[in-house]
Amino acid sequence: MTPTAEEHAERYDLHGLRQQMLRESSGTIDDSIPELAAASADVCGIAIVDDDGDTRTTPDADLEFSVQSAVKPFVYALALVDDRERVLDAVGTEPTGEAFDAIVLESETGRPPNPMVNAGALLTANLVDGSTPDERFARILSGISAFAGRELTVDENVSRSEQLLGDRNRALGYLMRSRGTLDIEVDDAVSVYARACSIVVTAEVLATMGATLAFGGRNPVTGEQVVPREVVPIVLSIMATCGMYDGSGRWMRRVGLPAKSGVAGGLVASVPWQLGLGVYSPPLDGEGNSVRGVLACEKLSDDMGLHVFGPPRDEARYR
Ligand code: GLU
Repeated sequence: MTPTAEEHAERYDLHGLRQQMLRESSGTIDDSIPELAAASADVCGIAIVDDDGDTRTTPDADLEFSVQSAVKPFVYALALVDDRERVLDAVGTEPTGEAFDAIVLESETGRPPNPMVNAGALLTANLVDGSTPDERFARILSGISAFAGRELTVDENVSRSEQLLGDRNRALGYLMRSRGTLDIEVDDAVSVYARACSIVVTAEVLATMGATLAFGGRNPVTGEQVVPREVVPIVLSIMATCGMYDGSGRWMRRVGLPAKSGVAGGLVASVPWQLGLGVYSPPLDGEGNSVRGVLACEKLSDDMGLHVFGPPRDEARYR
């Protein structure tokens, strides 16, 4: 019998993987806001959380950074919990092949194409429960903290920069208002979304969040059922098809896991019913995904047999 993912995770040389990743020097640091531009290129943190909530980490897995777009699947999950039919009606579920911040809506409906691009995330962040921006963000922060299994905070400098430099997101907001897709003030919508992107996480936190989705919405560290199980397949399928932006097709072929990246260099992946993975390394590839995060997940998937379409653990049964 092939070792289980948990058995693999217990004895996998994560530190050796990290050293190997640090020898990769390609990629560029995001400079869309000053706080992201100040990140170090010479860090790489990797974390794995299994079904018992056991957590394995490398150095740098405790380094804090803003979650950025890696928050989007979790905000989407919370919005689905709060008003599933409205969210599925308001936001498409199709990959676009466009950049994450493309100024594009579905031509017939005026909807954002999916919740992983900025237009979709801007809308879903404002479809969670709450009659004011502060109430909506409070719902998001509380829900994301439950996914993380700890009280999370916001980097106020990042939030301020995201709002000050968020003209492209405001343009998306006004485009959606012009199509009747967004019915609240654009600045209010952008403020909720920008604060969600500014929540502070670590690679270890991302691995716990990814594990919570991997185990049907139940956080394996705290035991809390964060979202109902039936919401999870919707979220994981959108992560699998749209989570890595224009690199999503290559990612699914090479790694084969639902995942979401963020421009601060975070990457979260879920191995359904097996593991959660979190990686942090700021240098990004041309699609805005962490270079070392992608390479680390490719190696983990190959070495531990994590590809969702790979051979079964009890492969001998099928020979
Ligand atoms: N805050 C960034 C934006 O709204 C997030 C981009 C990303 O992480 O992909 O553009």
